[in-house]
Amino acid sequence: MKLCMIGTGYVGLVSGVCFSDLGNHVICVDKNLNKIKKLQNGKIPIYEPGLSELVKKNIENKKLNFSNDLKNSVKKSDIIFICVGTPTKKGGGSADLSQIYGVAKELSKSINRYKIIVTKSTVPVTTGDEIEKILLKFNSKNKFSVISNPEFLREGEAIRDFTYPDRIIVGSNDKKSNKILKSLYSPLITKGAKYINTSRRAAELIKYASNAFLATKITFINELANLCEKTNINIDDISIGIGLDQRIGSRFLRAGPAYGGSCFPKDTKAITSTADKFSTNLSVIKSVIKSNENRSKLLLNRIYKILNNKVKNKKISFLGVTFKANTDDMRDSSSLTMIPALSKKGAIIRYYDPTGNKEELNKIKNVSYSNSESKCLDKADLVIIHTEWNNFKSLDFSKLIKNKKITIFDMRNLYSPQKFINKNIKYFSIGRG
Ligand code: NAD
Repeated sequence: MKLCMIGTGYVGLVSGVCFSDLGNHVICVDKNLNKIKKLQNGKIPIYEPGLSELVKKNIENKKLNFSNDLKNSVKKSDIIFICVGTPTKKGGGSADLSQIYGVAKELSKSINRYKIIVTKSTVPVTTGDEIEKILLKFNSKNKFSVISNPEFLREGEAIRDFTYPDRIIVGSNDKKSNKILKSLYSPLITKGAKYINTSRRAAELIKYASNAFLATKITFINELANLCEKTNINIDDISIGIGLDQRIGSRFLRAGPAYGGSCFPKDTKAITSTADKFSTNLSVIKSVIKSNENRSKLLLNRIYKILNNKVKNKKISFLGVTFKANTDDMRDSSSLTMIPALSKKGAIIRYYDPTGNKEELNKIKNVSYSNSESKCLDKADLVIIHTEWNNFKSLDFSKLIKNKKITIFDMRNLYSPQKFINKNIKYFSIGRG
């Protein structure tokens, strides 16, 4: 099939490349010409394991193209995937749909024959209805179908998640488009993926409900970790003890910093805002948002306590600053709350991240990037393990920080406290008494 991905970010690029690898002809479009030029030269603008090889392979196979010409790319394609951003609206909690509606307006003037328009972006319930209205201004009803096919891939595992999804959700209000989408996904369905057809509105809501539920699970275990710290209980025992109950499940039960990233923070806010619009109070999710916002403040207070409230001139080293491992995505990472607050109090901060220097941290006073763990940790007063990269799971701290008493705050519980007994290392972690 001939596909066009509009928006070549984490979702558009990964899913476009994977669709091309399944044998489809794919054009990935982006308005960012710089990004398109890089991709045309085989350079990948994001960190995603395995992606670069797949891009090269499918460019060579002539299945994958990159363009900034939306109109022509759409004309040549049968199925158009909208994969642009839906960030939080400035000054509010609802989703900013300007990129979505901007694309819909461009599409309305580019439909030359029957097209299936698919929203892969995460969009609030009824957005599909609005897109349809925009398209109807210049096109008759039989020229297009608007369907919702939310994406569930996780950064860092994106190719695997796309290729072996738990489920494929397709929300369509007509049989024709559903049949075509089912056939597009048939290589994945044959491998065992469950294909679920719902109404368009249901598909839109399923995506938000999934993210809100996962955010709730993380927040739940983070709050229990606070109780464990007061009662001398190991939170890891609680996670195992409840996670083995199949009704609960063990994933997303690891206590740590506030959840971040490009989805959970914005999607929890957007779903409560949508519910408010429909006079429905999603009070559970609202309290999850509040608890998560407090989490970084709570962990900052722990850092102050660990440093006996003497933060000025303390050398603090962050291992990892992205919101999770195996991605370079800094969007809403808790490090973006903690590092500026520590800098304000006069700390001298170094950080190392396997995905390199972060421009989000460039302008913060006394914050610098080190290009190795050893340079980052050298002479540190406090080491904060912020992100759970494999690289950080077996470090020899006594060697990395010479001639000093070391303090470590392991926000990901990567180490066992027993490892540091009888060593010159003060070790703190999350929810372990
Ligand atoms: P992103 O910001 O990485 O990429 C969006 C791209 O769209 C950008 O490159 C931008 O230049 C481009 N764009 C914007 N307007 C355009 C236009 N008019 N024409 C062409 N290109 C345009 O975003 P993302 O992280 O890929 O997320 C996209 C959507 O998918 C969001 O709704 C997000 O919530 C959802 N989603 C993201 C993930 C994830 O892990 N990142 C997972 C599932 C779903």
